[in-house]
Amino acid sequence: IIDAGVPEHSAITTCAYCGVGCSFKAELRGNTVVRMTPNKDGHANEGHSCVKGRFAFGYATHKDRISEPMVRDSIDQPWRTVSWEEAIAFTAARFRGIQEQHGRNSVGAITSSRCTNEEVYLVQKLVRAGFGNNNVDTCARVCHSPTGYGLKTTLGESAGTQTFASVAKADVVLIMGANPTDAHPVFASRMKRRLREGARLIVIDPRQIELVDTAHIRADYHLPVNPGTNVAILNALAYTIVEEGLQDSDFIADRCEEPAFAEWLAFIQEPQHSPEASAEFTGVDPELVRGAARLYATGGNSAIYYGLGVTEHSQGSTSVMAIANLAMLTGNLGREGVGVNPLRGQNNVQGSCDMGSFPHELPGYRHISDAATRSLFESHWGVSLDPDPGMRIPNMFNAAVAGEFRGLYCQGEDVAQSDPNTHHIEAALSALDCLVVQDIFLNETAKFAHVFLPGSSFLEKNGTFTNAERRISRVRKVMPAQAGMEDWEVTQALANAMGCPMTYSHPSEIMDEIAALTPTFAGVSYERLDEQGSVQWPCNTESPTGTPIMHVDSFVRGKGYFGITEFVPTEERANRRFPLLLTTGRILSQYNVGAQTRRTANTVWHEEDVLEIHPHDAEQYGISEQDWVGISSRAGDTVLRAAISERVKPGVVYTTFHHPVSGANVVTTDNSDWATNCPEYKVTAVHVEKVAEP
Ligand code: SF4
Repeated sequence: IIDAGVPEHSAITTCAYCGVGCSFKAELRGNTVVRMTPNKDGHANEGHSCVKGRFAFGYATHKDRISEPMVRDSIDQPWRTVSWEEAIAFTAARFRGIQEQHGRNSVGAITSSRCTNEEVYLVQKLVRAGFGNNNVDTCARVCHSPTGYGLKTTLGESAGTQTFASVAKADVVLIMGANPTDAHPVFASRMKRRLREGARLIVIDPRQIELVDTAHIRADYHLPVNPGTNVAILNALAYTIVEEGLQDSDFIADRCEEPAFAEWLAFIQEPQHSPEASAEFTGVDPELVRGAARLYATGGNSAIYYGLGVTEHSQGSTSVMAIANLAMLTGNLGREGVGVNPLRGQNNVQGSCDMGSFPHELPGYRHISDAATRSLFESHWGVSLDPDPGMRIPNMFNAAVAGEFRGLYCQGEDVAQSDPNTHHIEAALSALDCLVVQDIFLNETAKFAHVFLPGSSFLEKNGTFTNAERRISRVRKVMPAQAGMEDWEVTQALANAMGCPMTYSHPSEIMDEIAALTPTFAGVSYERLDEQGSVQWPCNTESPTGTPIMHVDSFVRGKGYFGITEFVPTEERANRRFPLLLTTGRILSQYNVGAQTRRTANTVWHEEDVLEIHPHDAEQYGISEQDWVGISSRAGDTVLRAAISERVKPGVVYTTFHHPVSGANVVTTDNSDWATNCPEYKVTAVHVEKVAEP
């Protein structure tokens, strides 16, 4: 599939894998991609790429693609191929019937961070204006929803503060719960460049990620924190900074709310937050914590980069607030080389959140209960909006099991494989009267579906993605939609069939509507994107060409807010029955549930998920390299091959989640973040034992 011929046409587009958002020139011969060449002018990647973006595009024309809509009356019947008209009419009739029988709130939708901003915007509009409720949630619920809550609460905006290029000015890089070399490779290269130039490095992670010790890079501090104790270690860092008088008092006095800071100061000085006291939970040598705190506070420009190892916890939102507190405490915000930077997993996590696909927020993070905001959308859409927040994804599934939620439109998200506690999800999906799956493949979720609407890959549609640095970039159509309709056209057809008129003729018109209704997007248009290449929001009259660094002179909320970050141990603790803690992550060559990377022609992608286990634990449980290991938790059990590794600490085991067969989420529980319900994927108490080959 690589260099398969002389290209006949090409277009600049954006990688549909991770939140770095690399720009590529897609070159095609007919409808076959012959080359993906990283774009030198791409602001996020400057001509660089990783193996996924450059080579893993064969899935777009894989034989597993479904090109015709299908319906069935019940999930024990075979699929029936139908026309688009029949599929849309079938779906609309089912949803209308459910609402007539079970009420307006009995249906909803899940949007995808894989889809474009325009597609996500349309689905939330369909739910609000067509279904008449706010039961719309994004798959970001299960990854970065705590980032939204934590950063909005403390700084005033649900987004990272910097541009990727800012890392070149960092003197200290603090990475927490992220593995950039595997999950965000192109940004990791920028980071490595800076580290090789001499920037210092602190890594907080239960596992020794590659950056801890790799060619010409060695972390100054690696704090191998016990899973589930992030808040305790962040508090210990803040305690040390305050105890040793290393805070930036001028910044705090000038930029932060005084009463909240005074209250937080009294809280953080309590003795249980000392590195020595918190070591009981974190398992980290207090001297390492003190050293890291001194380096972060006094090393010059200090920048924090974090990932799902921070958010996917029962205290994910508290951890994000604690990270923001650290940055405010030391004045590391509002200029190049510093900041708080969530590394988003999927290509459009930021965008799917920006577009209002939350049950409580309209586009631009404005609460649905706000009458003025509602009125703006009501006058534009010509409908009355429900002022009450709708259901989050876990609430939809719980309500489905209880028989109260009956119809779900699931766009581009394989919830059966990617959401925690698989058995519970399957029970919920089985209980639905109408499950509509819109995807490019018949995924695991489609096994429970009544309608399958074939989706379009990123090569088959126009739109935009927004990366982890708030950068909006164009996605350009380079081949016809295999199924004849782009995803936004399908949503529009469904909306019209549901009595919610939509008449867009191109996604640029959807973006124009987003800009008209969303102050942070007011200056965004396809013309501007074509002219500038990309733009970082906010983009409006105050910042006509976009905003690389946020919170420069003041925070979006005015004064920064120090939230109280009480450490509450997770319920998911090691015990006699489940003595080890399982945590999860990614490998470079695979992507999420592997739907795309497992469907590329290159066999090097097809590495299996393995269970990393420390040699001491392996010996204790009689496990050798490559043995099959049964892993059980209170949610379920699965089997993986063992990989003996000192990357994990004793008491902790680790795996990836890229294959449906191994199904890591069979064992993850339905514990979730207290503020956002983001699942606690990163901590599962498990029992392991050697088993026969399955
Ligand atoms: Fe695509 Fe991310 Fe790789 Fe860039 S770093 S090419 S966005 S997968």
